[in-house]
Amino acid sequence: MAIQTFTGTVLRKKHLTEDVILLSLGIPSDFSFQAGQFVNMRIENNGVVKYKPYSILSSPSQQGQLDLCIKMIESGFASEVFEQTKEGDTFEIKGPFGHFVFDANSPHNEHWFIAAGTGVAPFYSMLQEHLSQSRTKKFTLLFGVRSRENLFLHEEFLSLQKKYPHFTYIPTLSRDKWEGKQGRVQNHLPADLQNKTFYICGLKELVLETKELLLRKGVTSADIKFERYS
Ligand SMILES: Cc1cc2nc3c(=O)[nH]c(=O)nc-3n(C[C@H](O)[C@H](O)[C@H](O)COP(=O)(O)OP(=O)(O)OC[C@H]3O[C@@H](n4cnc5c(N)ncnc54)[C@H](O)[C@@H]3O)c2cc1C
Repeated sequence: MAIQTFTGTVLRKKHLTEDVILLSLGIPSDFSFQAGQFVNMRIENNGVVKYKPYSILSSPSQQGQLDLCIKMIESGFASEVFEQTKEGDTFEIKGPFGHFVFDANSPHNEHWFIAAGTGVAPFYSMLQEHLSQSRTKKFTLLFGVRSRENLFLHEEFLSLQKKYPHFTYIPTLSRDKWEGKQGRVQNHLPADLQNKTFYICGLKELVLETKELLLRKGVTSADIKFERYS
């Protein structure tokens, strides 16, 4: 897909949790991408310009609007700008970029998506896109956050699970006790790791540790796909 440069206009900014925002941007309707890809946003803070990558949360079938979910980092360069962002603000956006997309040609029937925090964004896009198209495949999302109040898109994933019996949603909390799974995502990998494709997205530690664990247990690198946020 050709890389485009266009203007995104903030249609809505909403807090999904205390420190994760959903940013909906109005964009040209001819912008196309594959679920799992990201865009680069031009961020100007105090006269300094940087391009920052953000995975696309929305599905490719939603035209004319791009949704992103962004973690607010204390004193972060872009986070400071997003804190102040309001409806009507504009950003220069370039994209789409990246190869972290669903492998429809995988020989395996089972696909495990493993994310922590906003690393879940590309999976939301992929699930919205592929659950209806790939009904003979099985999808599982392992989604880790610290505590119940950090869990976002929870209702959305629950309703996808209800609608699509070939999708299993496993949220896990690393710091809170609740009725669901506890501990880190790596603790909830399937017992049998063979004949599955694994997709991992999040910060460096999560990606490296999970990848290492899977390789150590005999999964081949061809069956591990990942996107690192740091
Ligand atoms: C391909 C790609 C896709 C990305 N997609 C997203 C996305 O969809 N949503 C998103 O929130 N971020 C995403 N990021 C990270 C994003 O580009 C920025 O690094 C992040 O927003 C911090 O920028 P900042 O300028 O506010 O902070 P900086 O001033 O650059 O501070 C960086 C610090 O923030 C930490 N950090 C970076 N990202 C995160 C995060 N998501 N959660 C917790 N700590 C973080 C870094 O480890 C580092 O310590 C992505 C990164 C890549 C490479």
